[in-house]
Parts: sequence; C-alpha cells; structure tokens
Amino acid sequence: SVGEQKKHVVIIGGGPGGYVAAIRASQLGARVTLVEKKRLGGVCLNVGCIPTKVLLHSVELFTAIKKASHLGIVAEKVSVDWNALMKRKEKVVDHLTGGVGILLKSNDVEVIDGFAKFLSPRSVGVKLKDGGETRIEADSFIIATGSEPVIPAIRGFDIPGVITSNEALSLEKVPSSMVVVGGGVIGMEFASIYASLGTKVTVVEMLPDILLNMDEELVQIIKGVLARSKVVFHTSSKVTEVKERAGVLAVSVESPDGTVTVEAEKVLVSVGRRPVINGLGLEKAGVITEKGRIRVDSYLRTNVSHIYGIGDCASPIMLAHVASREGIVAAENIMGRSVTMDYKTVPSAIYTSPEIASVGLTERQAREKGFKVKVGRFPLANNGKCIIMNDIDGLVKYVIHEKYNEILGVHIIGPRATDLIVEGALALRLEATAEEIISTIHAHPTIGEALAEGALAALGRVIHLP
Ligand code: FAD
Repeated sequence: SVGEQKKHVVIIGGGPGGYVAAIRASQLGARVTLVEKKRLGGVCLNVGCIPTKVLLHSVELFTAIKKASHLGIVAEKVSVDWNALMKRKEKVVDHLTGGVGILLKSNDVEVIDGFAKFLSPRSVGVKLKDGGETRIEADSFIIATGSEPVIPAIRGFDIPGVITSNEALSLEKVPSSMVVVGGGVIGMEFASIYASLGTKVTVVEMLPDILLNMDEELVQIIKGVLARSKVVFHTSSKVTEVKERAGVLAVSVESPDGTVTVEAEKVLVSVGRRPVINGLGLEKAGVITEKGRIRVDSYLRTNVSHIYGIGDCASPIMLAHVASREGIVAAENIMGRSVTMDYKTVPSAIYTSPEIASVGLTERQAREKGFKVKVGRFPLANNGKCIIMNDIDGLVKYVIHEKYNEILGVHIIGPRATDLIVEGALALRLEATAEEIISTIHAHPTIGEALAEGALAALGRVIHLP
C-alpha cells in the first residue's frame, strides 16, 4: 500500500536463475538489486546453452547441405568459415545478454556490476567492477552464483591444450583431433559439433556407457550415428596422464583391454561442474552447504530463513530451465506465497545431431522403482515428415503404467526432439494417459505425429508401422 516500504531483495548472480528471480520478485512488488560479477546471462548465455547451440545449429545445417543433393539441391564446395561462425556466436550472445539488461531495466531491477559476499546474515559487501566497495542491507537474499567446470587432478591436465567447455567454444580453428574426457551431455555435444566438422574425436568415459541417465536404447542410437562420423568410444576407461610431445598431446587411456595412447591436438575435460560458493562469505551469513552445494529445502530456502539458494549452486539438477523455475519459486516464496519445486517434469535435452530429449522415467528406472510397465516404440523412419526432411535416424519411446496407462516417461531421439519433448513434459505434469495423448489430434505432416504413434504403440494399436 502507499507509504509502506517495499521489501528489498538482493540477488547474487545474473544467470538464468538470478535474472528470472529478479524479474519475478519485482513483478510481485519487491525492490530488487541484482549483483553480477561478470556479465548478465551467466554461464547459460555467455559460455553455455546459447553459444553451444549457435555452433550446433550451423554444423547441423552444414551437414544437411552436404547431403542436399538428395533433396534436389546442388550445393558444391560447401565449407565452414570458422571465423565467421565465431563472430556470429558472439553476436547472438551479445544480442541475448543485452536483452537481459533491457528486461531487468524495464522491470526496475537495479543491477550492480561487482562481486558480492555476505558480511552478515542481513548484508552483503560488493567489490565494484569500477573500483570501490559498497554495502547493501536487505530483507531477503537469493544466492544464484552458478557453477564452474571441474578439472580433476590428473597429470598433464595443466598443459595449455587441455581445455574446458569455455575454451572449446572459442578455439582459433577446428582441431584435427580431440579427446573428450567425460561422455556426459556437454562432452557429447562438443563431440557432435567437432566430429561433424571433421575433427577425429575420441570419447573416454569412466562409466560403462555414455549419457548414463538417458534411456539405453537412445544411447545406442546416438553412439551409432556418432560412430559413422568416426567418433571412437572408450567406456569403462579413464585418462591417467597427458603428455606433450612435439606439439601433440599424448593421452594415456586405461581401458579394460589395457592402456592405449591416443594422440590429439586438444583434450576437452567435461567431467562435471561444481557450485561456485567460494569467497561468498557463507559462514558470515550462517548458510550451510551439503555435498559442496548450498543446502535448500523444497521451498528453496537455506537454513537461514530469509536467504534462498537457486540454480547450479544449490540445485540437484544443473540446467538453465531448472534454474529459472527455481528463481520463480524462490521469488514467490519470498513475496509471501508458498510454492515448492517439482522436479518430476524437468525435461533433459541433448543437442547432438540427432537431438535427444527425455522426461520422466526411463524403462530401467521405472522397473527399478517397481512399476509394471508397457513400452511403445515408434521409429522415425516411419514418419512422413522425417522422410520429407531426409532425416530418419530416430525413435520415440514411451514408458507407461501397465494397468492405468499413465505416462511415466517419454524419450525421443531425432530431429527437433528438444522441441517435441514439451508434449511429454506437459503429459507428465497433467498425469496424462496414453489414451489422452492419442485423442489429442496431432497435425499432419509433423514429427509430432510420431508422439501419438508412440503412445498408440504402447497400447498395441500403432497405425503407421507394418
Ligand atoms: P550461472 O548461469 O552460472 O550464473 C551465475 C552467475 O553468477 C554468473 O554470471 C556469475 O558471474 C555470477 N556470480 C557468481 N558469483 C558471484 C558473486 N559472488 N557476485 C556476483 N556475481 C556472481 N543448460 C540447459 O538447460 N540447456 C543447455 O543446452 C545447456 N547447455 C550447456 C552447455 C555448456 C557448455 C555448459 C557449460 C552448460 C550448459 N547448460 C545448459 C547448463 C546451464 O548453463 C546452467 O545450468 C545455468 O547457466 C545455471 O544457471 P544459474 O543461474 O544457476 O548460474
């Protein structure tokens, strides 16, 4: 009401968690200050989701154009202008980070360029980018400081040619060869980018398979496609040492068949990320961490009730869309609502070519949880739109409850999989049955029809499969 002082919320970190929280808190009537030490947009916009997808989009087009003679298009001497691609990447990043600045401004969020740390449970000190320091007192705080790459202590990992995803986005040229250490999402996206550009890629994964949280059938398909681009996989294997020999990196790989040496121009370390919490003064605020991240409850509150933690620094799932949703949940709780975080409908998206996307339980996870399930499969080679696009590597797979036909998981590999998964996420959110997917009319011809066919397949009623 008029005359009443607004609640002051300070947000530390301007990534997809922090900036979305700032906007939501402002919408709900808070006075919001956001402190960012580097650049608005965080990892996601600057060195994560966005720049990787710019590269992947161009690489995918490049691959498609090379195959375009099947589509009645003559395109000779197609090549990639790496410098131009790097410039485009910067342009898209500038556009989007600039956009975040505009959004914050239009929502009356005060942005301070600087490094914030807690001085007490109710105040932060900010080392300003332009020099000097300032102290801010506030009613509530949201910590959204994100994550950074983990570099394990392995001999030779300090050699300059050993890089993280940060450097892999800005290489001077396309390397002739690359060892990717870690077959998770980030590693596989880079493997896909560089293999498509002609780099000889070797993936080393300590676990028995790559992309371990994904449905195994989809993993086998992507491995087959990448193997066609000459990607070599060493699973149940680990890198024990990197040495430099005459400008080439010699990577020792301990595999079940013995130790081999793989030579490469670059070694990309993508074994995981860890929360950024050092130097934050958490002890001054009294905020507790657990397993290296900020401990929060389902309302995203830390042990100190007016301090919240969101995104990669606190979340069990390190994804931009999770960080943003957590930002909304935290802001709403600070402003007096009572919202909890629901991770059941979080989609995973992997932007390899073909793309992979998934929501809910895999077949194995469902069985391990004790569900009796039915499985429906629809290969995209039977989908009209995929045939039109000459892009038929793929599969839609449903895992549904045997008795109630409730959808437990949807898994897609193929073109536009990451866009199509929204239907699966919504189905899970609404606790939909296979029948409800089928009776929702899907436009023709679309890849989306394969989602209806997959649901039909789960009920033994598939139409477009011999
Ligand atoms: P961040 O984006 O890390 O932002 C945190 C911000 O806080 C940073 O800007 C940092 O400078 C700032 N900060 C830290 N400490 C302080 C301090 N003390 N004071 C002031 N500011 C501070 N996710 C997806 O969902 N889809 C993808 O396709 C995808 N691709 C990825 C590709 C790569 C190569 C990488 C590395 C990540 C990718 N991710 C993707 C993950 C995604 O980037 C993160 O989950 C997301 O950025 C997390 O958001 P956040 O707001 O928690 O943290």
